[in-house]
Amino acid sequence: MHELSLVMSILQIAEREAEKHDAKQIEEIELEIGELSGVDRPAFDFAWEQAIRSTKLEKAQRHIHDISGEARCLECDKEFAIHQLFDPCPHCGNHFVEIRKGKEFRVKSLVVS
Ligand SMILES: [Zn+2]
Repeated sequence: MHELSLVMSILQIAEREAEKHDAKQIEEIELEIGELSGVDRPAFDFAWEQAIRSTKLEKAQRHIHDISGEARCLECDKEFAIHQLFDPCPHCGNHFVEIRKGKEFRVKSLVVS
């Protein structure tokens, strides 16, 4: 499952960071997940619950920032909200668009103790 490997990589980053600071536990974790990142949230949440058991993330408060999709049309140069990759420009129908935001998937910050 794709979402499980995403969770595992977050876990790896978090544990490495905790080790660096000699922390026993991670208090808070902030994630950024873009609308176009392709992450299935229910699957992600399920994988999260399973994977963090008995890890330093188990008691962490998780904050998720949703990043909305934004694109710029390469034909008419207009910017618009995009909800699916490969959606055309709503102004001129062109498919050549540059994604400016929404593909993010990253750990934004960690608080360890
Ligand atoms: Zn356009």
